[in-house]
Amino acid sequence: MQKVKLPRTVDPVRAAQKKLDYDGIIQADLLERLAESTQSVTRDANVTLSFDLDQRRLAFVRGHADVEVTLTCQRCQEGFQHEYSVDFCYSPLLKPEAADDFPEAYEPADVDENGEINLIQIVEDELILDLPQVAMHDEADCKASGNMTFGEIPVADERPNPFAVLKNLK
Ligand SMILES: [Zn+2]
Repeated sequence: MQKVKLPRTVDPVRAAQKKLDYDGIIQADLLERLAESTQSVTRDANVTLSFDLDQRRLAFVRGHADVEVTLTCQRCQEGFQHEYSVDFCYSPLLKPEAADDFPEAYEPADVDENGEINLIQIVEDELILDLPQVAMHDEADCKASGNMTFGEIPVADERPNPFAVLKNLK
């Protein structure tokens, strides 16, 4: 079965009242900000979303997304494929003034003038946040793993010094 494209925006309250579920994709070329944060986005993101109302009748959406990107190894400078997934739970921030006592269980999702949330933006934000801070090959796959001089993490050092690692990363 061919996967459907995720709608760009959705009314979260109506979707929650109907308990809508989505199982679709976001095309790789729509993930422009993720592409800017990596070498490239190498395939479409798979996304599942479930809208529902909680006990307080608050609309929320629980989701899961996975994608594959090309990252630059900070040890040998070559590109490598990185496949990963994120889980998230959002509730629409219907009144900006309610931001301060927003329920902790959810991330706030901004709504536009039509009361809709931007699904692609939410999923892309999550994917960007979950990128590794220092991208590196697995040691076995890395050309530079034999003679590491840059960003080396002491493994068998008797006196590991976290500041030494920070210095190496500079
Ligand atoms: Zn490498």
